Amino acid sequence: MRLENRIALITGAGRGIGRAIAEAYGREGAKVAVADLTLDSAQETVAAIEQAGGTAMAVAMDVTNENQVDQGVEAVVEQWGGLDIALANAGIQHIDPVHKLAFSDWSKVMSVHLDGAFLVTRAALRHMYESGGGSMLYMGSVHSLEASPLKSPYVAAKHGMLGLCRAVAKEGAEHGVRSNIICPGFVRTPLVDKQIPEQAKELGISEEEVISKVMLKNTVDGEFTTLEDVAELAVHLAAFPSAALTGQSIVVSHGWHMQ
Ligand code: NAD
Repeated sequence: MRLENRIALITGAGRGIGRAIAEAYGREGAKVAVADLTLDSAQETVAAIEQAGGTAMAVAMDVTNENQVDQGVEAVVEQWGGLDIALANAGIQHIDPVHKLAFSDWSKVMSVHLDGAFLVTRAALRHMYESGGGSMLYMGSVHSLEASPLKSPYVAAKHGMLGLCRAVAKEGAEHGVRSNIICPGFVRTPLVDKQIPEQAKELGISEEEVISKVMLKNTVDGEFTTLEDVAELAVHLAAFPSAALTGQSIVVSHGWHMQ
């Protein structure tokens, strides 16, 4: 087991990529705090981890709410005595060209990704610095490194998370904290399924064409990245034994983006 007795918190872990990583961390022996908007939305993931013989707790946490983030992290530390791994994963998407984008939609996307990542980082670092170290992880995207049309707030926010990750790597080093960002290509989750018809409408093409000509066009093999692929990388980054791997963006995208 690569994460035995480590204490991990993952935001937005009620479904999708966060859930897959939470279950993988559970299988690798970590105690997993499953954070999502409500206790109910976190509960299925907790049950899946426990059924597989792991240890998990549900945490209600809107990552844009300072008090909920601080209190949620406190609850984990109180329950298990520390925090070794924190993954800022919660995210949303919004499809619109810049000239039609409402300020409220821009702000919502920026807030969930960037304010959320900052608040989770701040709360986690307070404990990691006290205990002598830890692993900060961010769920970036290929959109942390390049742009696509119709996704300006998402692209801007994901680039911002890359900057935060690098700043934390610099500040965290003397406290034993590593900081890395996972940058997946397209993964079939509710976040992606929702945008396929939205992009088809906006671009005037079929849903099949959105998949083949927009989402997977630049991959080497026309394949979606899987939940398992992303979870494996998240385990590897959390388990990495030294500060040799810090401040890095690791792309898992079937070659869509090569750096
Ligand atoms: P998803 O929609 O399946 O899951 C997102 C989760 O985040 C949900 O459980 C939701 O309740 C939660 N969430 C949303 N707003 C929240 C908030 N304010 N506070 C707490 N939780 C909140 O999406 P997903 O595809 O699993 O995406 C997870 C992360 O991976 C996101 O950061 C996303 O940008 C990133 N990502 C996804 C893909 C992809 O292709 N699916 C690719 C690259 C990066």
